[in-house]
Amino acid sequence: MGATLDLKRPALAATPPGLPNLSGLTRDQMRAALVEAGAVAPDKARMRVNQVWRWIHNFGVTDFGRMTDIAKETRAVLERTFSLGRPEVVERRVSRDGTRKWLIRFAPGVEAETVFIPGVGRAGALCVSSQVGCTLNCTFCHTGTQPLVRNLTAAEIMAQVQIARDDLGEWPSPAGERQLSNIVFMGMGEPLYNLDNVADAIEIIADNEGTAISRRRITLSTSGVVPEIPRAGALTQAMLAISLHATTDALRDELVPLNRRYPIAELLAAVRAYPGLSNARRVTFEYVMLKGINDSAAEAKALVRLLQGIPAKINLIPFNPWLGTNYQCSDWETIEKFADYINNAGYASPIRTPRGRDILAACGQLKSESERMRKVDRLALEAMMIAGHGEA
Ligand code: SAH
Ligand code: SF4
Repeated sequence: MGATLDLKRPALAATPPGLPNLSGLTRDQMRAALVEAGAVAPDKARMRVNQVWRWIHNFGVTDFGRMTDIAKETRAVLERTFSLGRPEVVERRVSRDGTRKWLIRFAPGVEAETVFIPGVGRAGALCVSSQVGCTLNCTFCHTGTQPLVRNLTAAEIMAQVQIARDDLGEWPSPAGERQLSNIVFMGMGEPLYNLDNVADAIEIIADNEGTAISRRRITLSTSGVVPEIPRAGALTQAMLAISLHATTDALRDELVPLNRRYPIAELLAAVRAYPGLSNARRVTFEYVMLKGINDSAAEAKALVRLLQGIPAKINLIPFNPWLGTNYQCSDWETIEKFADYINNAGYASPIRTPRGRDILAACGQLKSESERMRKVDRLALEAMMIAGHGEA
């Protein structure tokens, strides 16, 4: 249905087990690793890192043999000690709206999805996964039904960016217009439960040489891991998005069970203290629109009251259904009314247009299941989306 399946592109070499992938190392880590491996002398390390970095992050090479300005013997040591390969792309789908989704197999049974959404952010946003599965069980989220398999490493997070750039043809890094301009940690998993790896990946992505996407165009979305919010700000200086979804603890306890540990007042206190917040650098509150659950006019009012004084924008996300859920998406009219109220109160309140629904790439639909779902179930789900929203 509207999606194209293209597995003709050859899969790039899978990461050999055991060899650390250089793509996931920050400059400092790479310097230490190259010296320790005996690949470079300490006094030459900085220069060598500059060269290797350029090949990996500017040119996207997956083969040490292409690093032509590095001596053959050095390349041989690098090749013995490290890897550069990409994990396998087991499925690639393109939505009729241009959204692309890759199902990536990092290791047997360790699979996650990455989604590129054109026309979001400055040019296009890549929605990356930070974990396979999730330990939190938000009741409206499909990923939440899959137990945590494991955290992704920094190299595996970088691999998602690299695979997108392979597919978009963005090697070397384009000097002018580019398609991939923003990164959002809104795929599978809770990034603040994998903060060290996520922070390393952000440092690599934001480096001036290479992917070079500035921290202001990188967004961390959290369900509210309060104790990690200050550290996330200090380590990443990324933009913050909070999955709020409710205005009372009673309802949020139910939708986002983590709220029982870190209630709304504590969460908002941590948000207010997030470094660098200003009207030019607002925090985003995500609010999924659930029919009859959190979408009343009274709740729109309560939301405005709750966020008073915080430089914020509110992203209304029409609920994306999945098989087995009891929730439904609010009616379009209700969503627009909700948005109008918030807007009139002075907050930007974009309604997030569901993207890539025909390929199950929309928010909260990600699960490694896409490849396993029986055809009959997929068709049933697509029918459900058409019935509910007049589109798929
Ligand atoms: N774990 C992080 C980031 C990944 S989820 C977090 O919860 O913030 C990215 C966003 O998609 C979150 O705001 C999440 O609440 C939302 N989401 C999850 N399931 C959804 C669904 N079925 N429909 C719409 N949005 C959903
Ligand atoms: Fe995990 Fe985020 Fe889904 Fe909640 S919404 S289950 S935190 S991925």
